[in-house]
Formats: sequence, structure tokens, C-alpha cells
Amino acid sequence: MTSHIAHVTHVYTLMRCLGTQLSGIVNQGKLVSDEIIISLLSKRLEKGEVKGESGFILDGFPRTVRQAEILEGVTDIDLVVNLKLREDVLLEKCLGRRICSQCGGNFNVACIDIKGENDKPAIYMAPLLPPAGCESKLITRADDTEEVVKERFRIYNDMSQPVEEFYRSQGKLLVFDLPGGIPESWPKLLQVLNLDDYDVKQSVAA
Ligand SMILES: [Zn+2]
Repeated sequence: MTSHIAHVTHVYTLMRCLGTQLSGIVNQGKLVSDEIIISLLSKRLEKGEVKGESGFILDGFPRTVRQAEILEGVTDIDLVVNLKLREDVLLEKCLGRRICSQCGGNFNVACIDIKGENDKPAIYMAPLLPPAGCESKLITRADDTEEVVKERFRIYNDMSQPVEEFYRSQGKLLVFDLPGGIPESWPKLLQVLNLDDYDVKQSVAA
């Protein structure tokens, strides 16, 4: 397990490409065959093995228990990291998304700054503000409304819960509560992943 994780930064970009490719396929149509996805994945993993790659990360895949089951026949998964964010924060971030109608740039005007209290940890996520030239041209995606976003959460939760359970029952699920944006989260995540004992990891992340 640790050998794969030690190479996280090395393989990250590489496998993110594949993950994006896969989630792209999954997103395009709900009935795209799992076989196509798995065949793409197998080919990529074989290629990596030949090149001497020691590990990989799949981003946003598998999304269903069936995919997880097929994946088991293709390769061994050491660890599944579930990055969690409070739903009210997630909602605010989703509603803060803006696109520049001229250059297509993606921004986020939401600034999350929640003080820690009792059982709830502090969360800080800086906004991703546009340059001056884009400011007056910002638009909000038509489907970034509270109603639609909440419905997306509901569908996601329905889909992901069985997959989480699938990996939890195998002792492979690590739940990581995001403390904020990438600058706040990345060092803590690496810290958690570099611990040798998996049980400790789970309690640190909890
Ligand atoms: Zn722009």
C-alpha cells in the first residue's frame, strides 16, 4: 500500500488523464458499457506496467458497485479515499461558480470561512476570483440553481453509498473530511496517506 502512495505525486497527472477520460465516458451517457471502460483501463494499466509504473490513481471511478466488481477482476485496489465536504459548504461552492462569457474561464466567487466549533472543524476555502478583464462578463450556469444542485447531491449520494459500502466492507475505505480548498487539504491528505498503519489513518481522518 505504502509503495503506491509514495508515488502519488509521480503518477497523479498521468492517471488523472485516464480518470478524466473514464469519467468523461461515464458522464456522456448513463448506459455506456462498463466493458468499454474496463477494457480502456486494462490497456492503460498494462502499458503502465511495461513502463515500470508502480501505482495509479483513478479519479471518480468506479461509480457503481458493478463497476467496482468488474474492476476487482482487472487489478488490485489498495485504498479508496472518499473526500468529504459538508453539504452546506458544497452547495455554497456550487452556487458560487461563474464562467466568463468571453474567454470561458471558470471562477468561483464563494468564500467559505467557517470557524471551528465543538465537534465541527474549521473550513476555509478561498474564492477563485476572475481577473479584472473578466469581471463584468461573468455568467452563472443555468443549472447551478439550489434546486438542481441539491438534486445532483441526492443522485450522487444514492449512487455512491453502495460503492462506499462495498469498499468499507473490505476495509479499504478512507474517509477524509476536507478542511478547505486544495492548499488546506493537500498537505493534510498526504500526511494521512503516508502513515504506515491503516487503522491509524482512519482515526486521523475521522
Ligand atoms: Zn474572461
